[in-house]
Amino acid sequence: MTSPAGRLPTLFLSHGSPMQAVEPGVAGRAWQALGPSLPTPRAIVIASAHWETALPMATGSAHPQTIHDFGGFPRALYEIRYPAPGAPALAARVNALLKDAGITGGIDGTRGLDHGAWVPLRWMYPDARIPVVEIAVQPARGTAHHLALGRALAPLRDEGVLVIGSGHTTHNLRDWSTDRSGAGGIAPYAAEFAAWVGERLAAGDADALVQYREHAPHAVRAHPTDEHFLPLFVAYGAAGASPRVEPVVEGFEGGALSLHSWAFH
Ligand code: ZN
Repeated sequence: MTSPAGRLPTLFLSHGSPMQAVEPGVAGRAWQALGPSLPTPRAIVIASAHWETALPMATGSAHPQTIHDFGGFPRALYEIRYPAPGAPALAARVNALLKDAGITGGIDGTRGLDHGAWVPLRWMYPDARIPVVEIAVQPARGTAHHLALGRALAPLRDEGVLVIGSGHTTHNLRDWSTDRSGAGGIAPYAAEFAAWVGERLAAGDADALVQYREHAPHAVRAHPTDEHFLPLFVAYGAAGASPRVEPVVEGFEGGALSLHSWAFH
């Protein structure tokens, strides 16, 4: 076996509900194909919507625990472990890059990996051998901050580190819970919002994306709160200037949760 050679992209992944961990749907199947299709990273930095902090934080544990940060799901989900090693030196590198960009961050030596990180990673890299550093989002600081945070991390791409943002292209759980099966069809507002995001990414229109709450159709309904949208800006920023944008997942979970995901080359 040889590792594919070449430059790593960055990824924004819509992670779906925790059930994706045991019942891979359209996203899980795509992640299974995506992992082996990329150059093998030496480590992964993943920004998860499920870790919210005031300052940018990175996991510093050498052996991050698997966090089951959800309730009311089948027992099998709670038995899953994703025992990837941590990478304390990489967490320090993340903080150094943030500092260079004028962003104050920190390291949390006890925090583990939440499901925003391990659900996609267990399908992309099931043997859990690649070290993982998780980073947090700062919902109080908005989109431009997360784009700057991503841009600060852009050198990691050329250091063999795969930067992933794990969130959701649309994330209205109230709408999702009214039609979890999707039997009623795709909510038109969610499809319109996801299409707008894809178009603006393809056009390299970072300004419109940063101001999506003013410009995007149905933005507030798509993201009543925007912690799940913020990892997109980390991944997009970390790709560097004017990346080529490739859709890697197109679809929905239920009628309202867009699973749209992109690679930035
Ligand atoms: Zn989530």
